[in-house]
Amino acid sequence: MSTQTTESLPGSSQRTRSCATGLACHRCGKRYELADTVFACPDCGKGLDVVYDYELAARHFRDVPTEERPQNIWHFEELLPIVDASAQARVGQHSGYTPLIRADRLGAELGIDNLYIKDDSSNRPSLSYKDRVVSMSVARLLERGKTEIGCVSTGNVGTAVASLAAKAGVDAYVFYPNALEVTKARVCMALGAKVCQVEGNYDEANRRCREVAENTGMDFANITLRPFYAEGAKTAAFEIVEQLDWHSPDHIITAAAGGTLSSRLHKGLLELQLLGLSETDTTRIHIAQPSGCNPIASAIIAEEAEVHPVTPETAAHSLAIGAPGDGYLVIDAVLKRGGTGGFASDPEIFAGIDLLAATEGLLTEPAGGTTVAVLEKLAAAGRFSAGDTVVAIITGNGLKTLDEHPQKPWPAKVDCELDAMLAALGELKGGPTLIQSAREQLGV
Ligand SMILES: [Zn+2]
Repeated sequence: MSTQTTESLPGSSQRTRSCATGLACHRCGKRYELADTVFACPDCGKGLDVVYDYELAARHFRDVPTEERPQNIWHFEELLPIVDASAQARVGQHSGYTPLIRADRLGAELGIDNLYIKDDSSNRPSLSYKDRVVSMSVARLLERGKTEIGCVSTGNVGTAVASLAAKAGVDAYVFYPNALEVTKARVCMALGAKVCQVEGNYDEANRRCREVAENTGMDFANITLRPFYAEGAKTAAFEIVEQLDWHSPDHIITAAAGGTLSSRLHKGLLELQLLGLSETDTTRIHIAQPSGCNPIASAIIAEEAEVHPVTPETAAHSLAIGAPGDGYLVIDAVLKRGGTGGFASDPEIFAGIDLLAATEGLLTEPAGGTTVAVLEKLAAAGRFSAGDTVVAIITGNGLKTLDEHPQKPWPAKVDCELDAMLAALGELKGGPTLIQSAREQLGV
């Protein structure tokens, strides 16, 4: 699939304001046309980045004020790679622009004065940050005039592909590795996607899916369409800064699996600075990983340029990528910005879920619990100064993973009589609260 061909763009009579000018290798800089189907550099094997005409983009931003822009992922369409307006119109119209929630109660627990949650667990249509990236893949697929899309997924990519493909009228095929959260696969099937579970871990399944793509010519959202997919992640950075009234936060923390989000947060912040929309140079990016799969965080702490692949062993299945494709980009981004990496054990991850739930009323999945648990460690280690603005990105929804969480004691059934219910209520009042058990586990 690395052979280079150029396609015309079907139905491209109307053009978006995209200022994308081509593709470039992350490592050697070799350039390709935007319409090329190449997705990895034939010379060095690294991924490709989308490059833009930033002067043109800056002019567009002056010409089209923010209040005239849609409140969805296309708000910053100049800095996204989709040029066919009809393809753009069919995808992601309700994705992005998730709330930035002031998290005073969680902040008080952790000793952080100005803490915000970027709540991508409410992203539409599939309740995870992956709606941002998969929207780009599906729009790109439509630009190519194709009608089938595949993906390899630890969970949320699959649900995003299933949902966004259904809306766009294309067939979806989801390949899951052997350690998956069952509800996510059921969601895919409920949305009409065809699901194949593979006897192997994510990294093994990913390699095989690349071969499936080569053999069939089917596009894969996060393999053959990856340069476009990755660009969707930047929209989280754009929104955070705009939602803070164009003041870039002092710190952003997010969980890392393949590394797409954390590395593209860096790119998005750079672009806002280039366009003169905000001063973003001082924003630090920190990443959180499970102790059982922390190749990127370990490399950051050791200040190494490349990750050493690991075999994942963690209950945070959506973070179980042992050979992260964008790991080297994350290391570069985090170290350049003076951030750090941290990790949390499975019990700490579930305590992080509980602490977020008990303080902010948000139910997240283990990836979000990882972020909260590492946020606690960074706060305890004094990484945040008084008055710093800290944004934690919560990337996925706990409703999809609830069956995987440690079970809380099921309430005993009592007679439907006043005395019995009053006695039960008395017992419940005497029991431990969620916030107490989370505090105890995290040592808050
Ligand atoms: Zn290259």
